[in-house]
Amino acid sequence: MISTKDAITLEDKYGAHNYHPLPVVLAKGDGVYVWDPEGNQYFDFLSAYSAVNQGHCHPKIIGALKSQAETLTLTSRAFYNNVLGEFEQFITEYFNFDKVLPMNTGAEGVETAIKLCRKWAYEKKGTPENEAKIIVCSNNFHGRTTTIISFSNDADAQKNFGPYTPGFLKVEYNNLEQLEEILKEENVAGFLVEPIQGEAGVMVPESNYLSKARDLCKKYNALFIADEIQTGIARTGSLLAVCGECSCQGHCERQPETYVKPDVLILGKALSGGVYPVSAVLADDDIMDVIKPGQHGSTFGGNPIAAKVAKAALEVVRDENLAQNARKLGKVFRQEMETLAEESDLVESVRGRGLLNAIVINDSPDSKTAWNICVALKDNGLLAKPTHGNIIRFAPPLVMTEEQLASCVAIIRKTILDFEK
Ligand SMILES: *Cc1c(COP(=O)(O)O)cnc(C)c1O
Repeated sequence: MISTKDAITLEDKYGAHNYHPLPVVLAKGDGVYVWDPEGNQYFDFLSAYSAVNQGHCHPKIIGALKSQAETLTLTSRAFYNNVLGEFEQFITEYFNFDKVLPMNTGAEGVETAIKLCRKWAYEKKGTPENEAKIIVCSNNFHGRTTTIISFSNDADAQKNFGPYTPGFLKVEYNNLEQLEEILKEENVAGFLVEPIQGEAGVMVPESNYLSKARDLCKKYNALFIADEIQTGIARTGSLLAVCGECSCQGHCERQPETYVKPDVLILGKALSGGVYPVSAVLADDDIMDVIKPGQHGSTFGGNPIAAKVAKAALEVVRDENLAQNARKLGKVFRQEMETLAEESDLVESVRGRGLLNAIVINDSPDSKTAWNICVALKDNGLLAKPTHGNIIRFAPPLVMTEEQLASCVAIIRKTILDFEK
């Protein structure tokens, strides 16, 4: 097998340098573990940015992939296929929406939601043509297309990619007063928000933020659009982060009070358990019916493999109680990190929900400290990645056991306490 050194050399020489990976090569994965070509084992504490919530190579999801791959892979939507409808029924019942529009990547899901929102504004709300505006939050991350980076405020994501797509207004995250002020402006069609800002460093808003924001959207007749590509599918200890503190997976009697149902829900990443690119936009009929034949689509969107894989991935989440496990382990993990923060000057604070957590390293965002800690974590058998300089995100697969988590906590403790010396 190719060595770690040679694999890195090849990527550096022949691949565009659009990422800056940690110097580790992964050759195999199983559950919460990954291995490099030399056979060293690591705990995966990133889960491919929360795409692998169900664990690496989950046998049920891989089984669905294999059997469908041997039967029928792609038809395009020029024809019906015999598995898409069943998947559409399954996912809409699972998340309690009338309809779904299947796509492939997260960014395509966000683009779909933006188009849907604009079209709804012109055809249902009566917004004058080309005047629709969508509110977004500062420090958002919604993907990498030209339109999406147009409303980013990350200089790396945006600089020299202009001209930018107009039609977006920015508010501070977790600021309801600003949101209401801007909702009063003319021609606001919707509010696109991450229930917890993942890339920005796991920023958790106040507990009533999402429900109040939804109420404000309702008051001003704008769509509340939740980007749950990273936070959804059990990651934060409930089926969706908009389910708040409830672990019922969106299906309990408390639902009307606790579940802030978005007008438009965007899913990706763990929708396939990291096995295949699958994203989806969910909405009820009064919104989704503005999209007619020829107005939006994707050759691969809703293909038979994607349909089977996503159904299996969602079944695993429910059958294995992954939301409940994420919620339980998340509490243990944050407690342990808080203890560490008291002992170590290097750890400034801990935040997160479920198994989407971050520690803030006590150094400037321009320093290499968080990066160097991640390299040391790797050497000790745990893989995590800094986000925004001095923040380290911790997001292991949700199939982790309490024992495994204890081993991970021990690695993090040892690494940080040794690092200080
Ligand atoms: C990852 C992510 C996206 C983009 O998904 P891709 O599959 O990388 O295009 C969009 N929104 C959020 C919140 C994400 O975390």
